[in-house]
Amino acid sequence: MNLDRLRILKEGRDKEGPVVYWMSRDQRVRDNRALAIAQEMALESRSPLGVVFSLAEEFLGAAVRQYGFMLRGLQEVERDLLEVGIPFLLLRGDPGEEVSKFAEENGVCALITDFSPLKAKRSWTGDVVDRLEIPIYEVDAHNIVPCWRASPKQEYAARTFRPKLKRLLPQFCGELPDIRVHPHPWDHGGGVDWDRLLRDLNVDRSVPEVDWIKPGEMGAATALNRFLRGKLSSYDRDRNDPTIDGQSNLSPYLHFGMISAARVALEVYRSGADPVSRAAFLEELVVRRELSDNFCLYNRRYDSFDAFPDWAKVTLNAHRGDPRERLYDQKELERGETHDDLWNAAQKEMVLRGKMHGYMRMYWAKKILEWTESPQEALRIAIYLNDRYELDGRDPSGYTGIAWSIGAVHDRAWGEREIFGKVRYMSYKGAKSKFDVGSYIDRVASLG
Ligand SMILES: Cc1cc2nc3c(=O)[nH]c(=O)nc-3n(C[C@H](O)[C@H](O)[C@H](O)COP(=O)(O)OP(=O)(O)OC[C@H]3O[C@@H](n4cnc5c(N)ncnc54)[C@H](O)[C@@H]3O)c2cc1C
Repeated sequence: MNLDRLRILKEGRDKEGPVVYWMSRDQRVRDNRALAIAQEMALESRSPLGVVFSLAEEFLGAAVRQYGFMLRGLQEVERDLLEVGIPFLLLRGDPGEEVSKFAEENGVCALITDFSPLKAKRSWTGDVVDRLEIPIYEVDAHNIVPCWRASPKQEYAARTFRPKLKRLLPQFCGELPDIRVHPHPWDHGGGVDWDRLLRDLNVDRSVPEVDWIKPGEMGAATALNRFLRGKLSSYDRDRNDPTIDGQSNLSPYLHFGMISAARVALEVYRSGADPVSRAAFLEELVVRRELSDNFCLYNRRYDSFDAFPDWAKVTLNAHRGDPRERLYDQKELERGETHDDLWNAAQKEMVLRGKMHGYMRMYWAKKILEWTESPQEALRIAIYLNDRYELDGRDPSGYTGIAWSIGAVHDRAWGEREIFGKVRYMSYKGAKSKFDVGSYIDRVASLG
């Protein structure tokens, strides 16, 4: 067992009873190091093993688009766990309360959970730790190098983080775990009625599910294979061109933990694809993604103006009073009713498809800064829209990407100009010089 990946959140007395993995961020059976560690513990103590998932019925503005994607993936998790003799139990309500109650009522002897740097999961975990008197462990099954091992502090930029990560990668890149048939059964009763659950769930239904992407582990594996065989070789050339679908489209799967980043990295590394493209992809998947977790873990105010670097706060404050040529409110932005057809197309792509192209995300967020009354307001609106419409929203990479665009987190100072101060600016003209803007707008228009 690689204990370097595990943190003890609470010591506890040895007692008999089932071991439970509280699944939250890593919603998969394959390549799941938290589940594997839970199974090892259960095997050592000859105990039954169960997986619980606690469904919060309100989660940072998530709509049926995100709930549907998640629940359909969990349905697959339940089925795959049953095949290896591990019951899957769905709880409903506040996870901090429900998981504690479940552990008490079922005489659970040890609890293992996966790691997230975001406030909600940390607060639920804190509640569980306060309430239970059993050993509780946290495993980072999401990052290749456990977030707290990669660095003990908030990193300034990719250039300071990259060498630390690279030094540790060999230690944490070992074989991915297998889950075996569990020999100590736990008959915990009936399964979940998924259709009914989805039908009756009291969530915002005005942001509908999308059908271009298939949720779950199988869908993720297919998407990865398609990417490896097709787009990976030209990733370096195509990824910043929004007229081409040159990205992997793995972010929704990575967000819900339906695929392990370590598995993706391994398959990309092993592929015979062009080395420049492989390196470019691994920089995004490993360095940038894990840097986002680092930012959210060590900066509790990751979704606020206070999280910006001091120089960025100074320069944005100095330009707070600059006249804005255009001002739009949240509703106008949400409806994509600005004077800028490129921005409107990006907004529409997000609303209809649930995934805006990566290059357009930067332009989109920076224009919100340009067209609203203050950086605080820009940040609030960008987070609201991102979390409401993106399938991969409510993710450290989202909070960090928005903080990068509006508050220069992980970026450097650029030439000073109105509103932005020394924060990097992006223009329509710049976009036009990089790709065929009209073709992107037409492509989005064809979505409906
Ligand atoms: C304003 C803004 C908002 C963003 N919101 C989100 C969000 O809500 N959720 C989200 O997952 N990402 C977000 N990103 C980061 C990035 O744009 C997306 O991860 C990427 O576009 C997802 O598409 P893909 O999986 O096809 O990416 P690919 O280009 O195929 O990259 C593969 C993986 O690398 C990681 N990655 C790529 N670019 C970045 C990046 N800049 N920062 C961190 N990780 C990266 C992602 O895990 C991605 O799935 C945001 C970026 C910005 C500038």
